[in-house]
Amino acid sequence: MTDKQQTPSLYRPSTMGALAKCRWFKSSSKDTVFNLEGTALHEAIEDPTKPRDQFDDYQLSLLSMIEGFVENRQKEIGQPVEVFKELEVDLKFLDIPGFNRGFADLVIWNPKTKTIYLFDWKFGVMEVDDAEDNWQQKIYSIGLLEKFPTATSCWVHLLQPKRDEISICEWTREQAKRLTAELKQLVAEVRDKENHPPVITEKGCAFCELKGKCSAYESKGINFMESHIVTAPFNALVFKKSALEMTPSERGLVFEGLKVVEEWIKAKKADVTSCAQEGAEVEGFALKKVAGKRSIEDASIAFKALPNADPMAFMKECSMSITTFEKFAHEVFSKDKPKQTKKESKAMAEELLAESGTLVQEMGYSYLTREK
Ligand code: SF4
Repeated sequence: MTDKQQTPSLYRPSTMGALAKCRWFKSSSKDTVFNLEGTALHEAIEDPTKPRDQFDDYQLSLLSMIEGFVENRQKEIGQPVEVFKELEVDLKFLDIPGFNRGFADLVIWNPKTKTIYLFDWKFGVMEVDDAEDNWQQKIYSIGLLEKFPTATSCWVHLLQPKRDEISICEWTREQAKRLTAELKQLVAEVRDKENHPPVITEKGCAFCELKGKCSAYESKGINFMESHIVTAPFNALVFKKSALEMTPSERGLVFEGLKVVEEWIKAKKADVTSCAQEGAEVEGFALKKVAGKRSIEDASIAFKALPNADPMAFMKECSMSITTFEKFAHEVFSKDKPKQTKKESKAMAEELLAESGTLVQEMGYSYLTREK
């Protein structure tokens, strides 16, 4: 779902989530490789008849995850339905400057059950607010309930295939009224931001989860650097002076300046890393990915998932690691199929664990490292 309106406004549905966290948030308009990938993938879903040769296997798997989910959901929704792709949602009735219209990725309307089903796909790797906390989805739900006056509720489905995450929630017409009031209150507070300090955490912008996307933070950081470090009194003269020659205030500024530079660089590093995660090149550095740790939550469930495993051997283990489980699995499988390789057993063991629901997969992370 996108805000295709070009209004250069603070109040775009896609920025309301950040504004709900900080009334001073100002989105920075960075166009990354990731944006282009997202647009191409959105277009592919919009028109499945278009050739998909430009996509690699991973990108094709993202598309099929979404298409598979929608197909199954459609079966549950039943008939008769009307299906709209990239549906324009009018938002002018909200009377908020900049809220003209939006485009919903997919909307299914079932007039029989008086229910709207709204679907949105995000192709980024960064975390987005769940459906029930997601302001963009709340706004589109309000808009859709206005568009379909006989509807009693709107289900939101938020899919983020790169994170393998789907979140769903339902907004009734009654709840949408409350959301509209909250939205207007939020906009009023953004207009009156002088009375709402720009801090999410007690420690201020430098520790803000949104600083990577917030141009208010960038300009704040740069202004501070300019006024406190580059220009007087923390200038070249101070650098040339020995500590003995400095005034007490200049000595204090050395430490103050150091702290600001460190925090600013830390923030910039986080920003560059998140840009790299979305596909941007960082000269001299390569992005390394670290897979999330996997573990078994409950050994007894794992045991039940492995038919014919020796309970005594299982009980001897003081904790059940994935490697130990794979070892047991290979012993069990190779009883019937002596020629089965460890690799084949490992793949089967992984499937059993995944199906059992006791496999814990932690999120991985990535970092930039200097290229050799
Ligand atoms: S970086 Fe600062 S101004 Fe920007 S959203 Fe965070 S707290 Fe607000």
